[in-house]
Amino acid sequence: MDSLKRLSSQAYHEGIWDALKEQDEHVYQLINKEYERLQNTLQLIAAENLCTRAVLAALGSIVQNKTTEGFPHARFHGGCDVVDDIEELAVARAKETFKAQYANVQPHSGTAANQIVLVALLESGDRILSLELNQGGHVSHGANVSFGGKFFDVENYFVDRQTYRLDVENIRQKALEFKPKLIICGGSAYARTIDFQQFRRIADEVGAYLMADISHIAGLIIAGAHPSPIDAAHFSTTSTYKPGGPRGGLILMGKDFDRQIEVSGKKTPLWRLIQKTTFPGVQGTPYLNNIAAKAIFFKETLSEEYRSRQFRIVENAARLAENLLGLGYDVVTDGTDNHMILINIANLREGMTGAIAQECLEECGIIINKNRLPYDTRNAAVASGARLGTPIVTRNGMGPDQMDTIAGLFDTVLRGVKIVSEREYELDNSLKDDTRRKIMELCHEFPMS
Ligand SMILES: *Cc1c(COP(=O)(O)O)cnc(C)c1O
Repeated sequence: MDSLKRLSSQAYHEGIWDALKEQDEHVYQLINKEYERLQNTLQLIAAENLCTRAVLAALGSIVQNKTTEGFPHARFHGGCDVVDDIEELAVARAKETFKAQYANVQPHSGTAANQIVLVALLESGDRILSLELNQGGHVSHGANVSFGGKFFDVENYFVDRQTYRLDVENIRQKALEFKPKLIICGGSAYARTIDFQQFRRIADEVGAYLMADISHIAGLIIAGAHPSPIDAAHFSTTSTYKPGGPRGGLILMGKDFDRQIEVSGKKTPLWRLIQKTTFPGVQGTPYLNNIAAKAIFFKETLSEEYRSRQFRIVENAARLAENLLGLGYDVVTDGTDNHMILINIANLREGMTGAIAQECLEECGIIINKNRLPYDTRNAAVASGARLGTPIVTRNGMGPDQMDTIAGLFDTVLRGVKIVSEREYELDNSLKDDTRRKIMELCHEFPMS
C-alpha cells in the first residue's frame, strides 16, 4: 500500500506545498507574504491578471522536468509521447479559442514571441514601423534599448497631438515614405479600439507584413469584446498571463498562415518559418509545464464565465473612467474602450507626478503604475501619467458599485497628499490608515479565489 502511495501522481503532486514548507521555510514565507499582499490590497495594474489554481497546478507539476527540443513528433529526445499530446492539445485549443489557422505555444514570453516574428521576417538593417514606446507601444517593438532597436532600422508613428488617438492617415503617410518590411500595431498603453483592417490595408499598400501584438487585449478579443486581428494581421502575438493564463507567449496566424515565401532560394510557408525561427532560431527547449498550463487556460477561455467576464472588465473600466472624469481627472482620450484607463495625473494638481501618485496610493493599498504619456516631458522614473486596469478586480467579482467606491478612495488620497517635490510627498497618517482599512474591507468582500 505504502509503495503504491509513493507511486501515485496524485500523492506526489499533493505533497508539493508541504515539501516546500519543510525544505525552505524562507521562500515558503515569502510566497505566503505575496499571497497576503494580493488579498489585502487592490490590484489595478492593467498588465496583471490572476490565473486559476488549475493553471498553477500545471505550472508546478512534474511536466516541468521534461527536456526536449523541436515540435511534436519531430523532437530531439526520447520519451516525448506524453508531452507531444500536451503540446498538440495546447495548439488545438489555442487555434479554437482565437479562431486561428496556426498557433505556436512555445514562446517563453510575449517579448520572445515578438522576437521570433522579427527574426523570422527580417534581415539585420531591415525596416520596422511601430508605435513609439511612450506613445503606448511596447519596448519589444524596436525600442532603442531593446534587441529590435539594435539590429533593425526602426521608425515610429505617433498618436494625434490633440486627440491622443491613432491617426490612420498619418501612419499611412509614414509607411509610404519609410517603406517598412514590417508594421507593428498594438501596445501596452492605448485605451481605444485598434482597427486592424486599416493597418492591413496600409501594410498591403506598401508591401509590408503586419504583426498585431495583442498582449493586453487578448482576452477581450477571445470574447469578442474587441475586434480580432487574426485574419487581418499576418502574425498576432500575445503574452498568455495578461489575459489570465500562465506566464508565457503565443504566436497566432490566420488566413496567411501558409503563404509561401522565398528563403535563401527555397519556398517555405510562413508558418514553417515561424516554427524554425522558434527553434533552433531563437529559443532552446520549450517549457512544457507552461505549455500544459496554457492548454488549461485556453480551455477556460471557452467558458461562458470567461467570456462574459471580458465584457464586465470593459464595463468596469468605462465606469471607473466615467467616475474619474466626473471628479475632474484628465482621462486620456476621455475614456476607454478596453480594460485600461490612462490618466494625465500631472494635470490634477500643481506638482503632481506619476511617481507620487503610484507611491502614495500604494501606501494606502491601491496598486497602480505610473506611465509616461504621449509627448510626456518627464522621464520614466517620474512620468506624468497613471495607468489603471480592471482585469483583477473584475475577476474577484467587483462591479459598478465597487468602481464608484474605488474612484472615491483614489481621489481622496490624491487630493489629500502633500506634494514636496517630483518624487517626494507627505501623507497624513489618519488618511492613510483610513483608506487602507476601507481598501482591505473591500478586498475581503471580494477575495481572490
Ligand atoms: C506585456 C507585453 C509584452 C511582453 O510580454 P512579456 O511576456 O512580459 O515579455 C509584449 N507586448 C505588449 C504589447 C505587452 O503589453
